[in-house]
Amino acid sequence: MALPKPDKKLTFSESSYLIEVVKGMALTMGHVIKNILDQDRFRCVEYPDVRKEMAPRYRGAHRLMVRPDGKVKCVACMCCPTVCPAKCINIVAAEDPNDPAEKFPLSFDIDMLRCIFCGFCVEACPKDAIRMDTRIYEINAYNRQDMIHSKTYMVNLMDGQKPEARHAYRDSSASAPAGYSSDEPPVA
Ligand code: SF4
Ligand code: SF4
Repeated sequence: MALPKPDKKLTFSESSYLIEVVKGMALTMGHVIKNILDQDRFRCVEYPDVRKEMAPRYRGAHRLMVRPDGKVKCVACMCCPTVCPAKCINIVAAEDPNDPAEKFPLSFDIDMLRCIFCGFCVEACPKDAIRMDTRIYEINAYNRQDMIHSKTYMVNLMDGQKPEARHAYRDSSASAPAGYSSDEPPVA
């Protein structure tokens, strides 16, 4: 197959490459010197010592809300797994032995490797039982299994014991994790 012809002929300096390399280096060094002389041009967040403050509406890791009596607010209505476009929510429902009219999630797992953080689950929930207001963006693990967030994990995420929560709020005492298991939103 014939190679396409170049649009224009290269000049001597372009075809020799050396001069172009020197011109490129000069351009790069110009930017380096400009940045060194004007440090304000650097907008670096010295992660992990400093963490970026996320916007209050940022959708972070999910958490499950609990009632004052300690039970999860979720009534296993299945709205969130139905609406989830990634099909990453897996709930096993059971009847509450103390109140047969009520259901609760025996297990409630979210596969964070599949979640696309659309927030539909939060929107769909009639009980305000699931929220994505933690602003935790460090969602990682050493294996796939640990990327499945369980009910226990999501209920206790903001109790101040989880390193993710400690990291997320270390620099902001105003939004510290204390009381996060309550109904109170995490940020003002
Ligand atoms: S944020 Fe979206 S993709 Fe993730 S669990 Fe909720 S509904 Fe599913
Ligand atoms: S929509 Fe809310 S109440 Fe219904 S299953 Fe999901 S978290 Fe539970």
